[in-house]
Amino acid sequence: MLDSVRVRLTLWYTAVLTLVLIVLSLITYFIFWRSTLRRTDVNLSELSEAFLTTLNAELKDQSGPVSLKLAGQVAITEHRFRDHVFAIVDAAGKIVVSSQDVPTAGSATGSLSGGPLSSSSFQRFLDSAFRSERFFGEVTGGQDGYRGFARHFSSSGKTYTLVILQSLHPQQEMLEEVTSTFAWVIPIAIVLASVGGYFLARKSLAPVVAMSSQAGRIGAANLHERLAVQNDRDELGHLARSFNSLLDRLSQSFERQQRFMADASHELRTPVAILRGEAEVALSQQARSPEEYRESLGVLHQEAERLTHIVEDLFTLTRADAGQYPLQPRDFYLDELVGECVHSARTLAFAKKISLNFEEASESPIHADESLVRRMILNLLDNAIKYTSEGGRVTVACRRAGQEYVLSIMDTGGGIPAELQPRIFERFFRADKARSRAEHDGGGAGLGLSISRWIAEAHHGRLELTHSDSVGSTFTAYLPAGPSPSAASG
Ligand code: ADP
Repeated sequence: MLDSVRVRLTLWYTAVLTLVLIVLSLITYFIFWRSTLRRTDVNLSELSEAFLTTLNAELKDQSGPVSLKLAGQVAITEHRFRDHVFAIVDAAGKIVVSSQDVPTAGSATGSLSGGPLSSSSFQRFLDSAFRSERFFGEVTGGQDGYRGFARHFSSSGKTYTLVILQSLHPQQEMLEEVTSTFAWVIPIAIVLASVGGYFLARKSLAPVVAMSSQAGRIGAANLHERLAVQNDRDELGHLARSFNSLLDRLSQSFERQQRFMADASHELRTPVAILRGEAEVALSQQARSPEEYRESLGVLHQEAERLTHIVEDLFTLTRADAGQYPLQPRDFYLDELVGECVHSARTLAFAKKISLNFEEASESPIHADESLVRRMILNLLDNAIKYTSEGGRVTVACRRAGQEYVLSIMDTGGGIPAELQPRIFERFFRADKARSRAEHDGGGAGLGLSISRWIAEAHHGRLELTHSDSVGSTFTAYLPAGPSPSAASG
């Protein structure tokens, strides 16, 4: 049960609410208690003023303890309320006059025999009262005890202490009422709030539950389905949008992957079919001359090489996509590497009577993966020669521009149609499939430029088709000359 967010939220909410209500009630109780006590003290203090005024008025023409007793009785009669006890005590602690000496209606002997004035706590109260001018304290007795106030006054040259006790019973009753109100209001509030909280949590989490079951239904077969966004502006809407954009990216990459697989198998099928056909033809004929066998084996070898080439390219791209192609950078001179590549491409160019020129460059130290950069240059040179007709010209130039090397390969081929130029770096893309396969033996599968661009980007550089029209094309690679890349990425 605790595994449910709804229940956990409700429990947390209820626990916090209970704590808040308890703290709030304690504070309210304390404030209430303090203010009633303060009111009692003010009341006692004012009563003492009034009592002494009456007492002094009675004493005006008389003197001696007897008359103090009489005057006290008059003042008590005048100021006594139901729950007050008065006493005048002399310096020795003896009670001169008290409410006990003044009978109340319905009680001939007075109402306080055995009352608070004879308790030991009253004695302790008096002891403390003698030590200060005005004193407030507690005295036990009665139903809930008394709040006592004592102050000194003089009469006939002697010091007396006036003590007034006020029963705490009414205040206590009020506080008990407050407590009992809290005792039933708080549990009801908690129950109502937790039930409300549970329904609120359920309602708020309902879209999440719906989203998770919807998400659970999405698989490879229906990757195009999306979660419904109920409120675009709230957190759940944000979650749904994030999830949907994740699905967008997933389905794009899934589609790319599927296209890649389809293209790859298509590309592999052709050489495999040629291999099979050629082998079948060779085997079907009973007697063949050694030349004919050599010729068949030559075709098989060529197609096997082509197959190897495609598989290697595919493997490179797959590892690059997964970010698992480890770069092995080292220091070398780019101009020297370009020179070597131009040199090894000369045979190809010579076969097509193409003049291949390398405009000598100044020293170009670079820190990069030499074999990958070599592969990129050879790809570009191979294309330039492949797509340039006999007697044409291919020019290679390498120069430094600021923090990068600019390597350009220009040819005088037929160029790439403008509408196809944006697509030539796509995998398996060939501007003219028939031509690229028929005219050029061992023609690529349309992966060379994708790999070359990846190589440039893995070195934090770029590869662009900077120019192409009917009289030729120029591919330019930009490689950083400064601090170089440390590891490969996709
Ligand atoms: P391929 O193996 O077919 O050469 P690439 O990825 O190297 O594959 O090139 C993709 C396509 O771009 C080629 O099929 C070709 O149509 C076009 N292309 C590349 N380089 C040139 C070039 N120098 N001149 C004309 N077309 C080119």
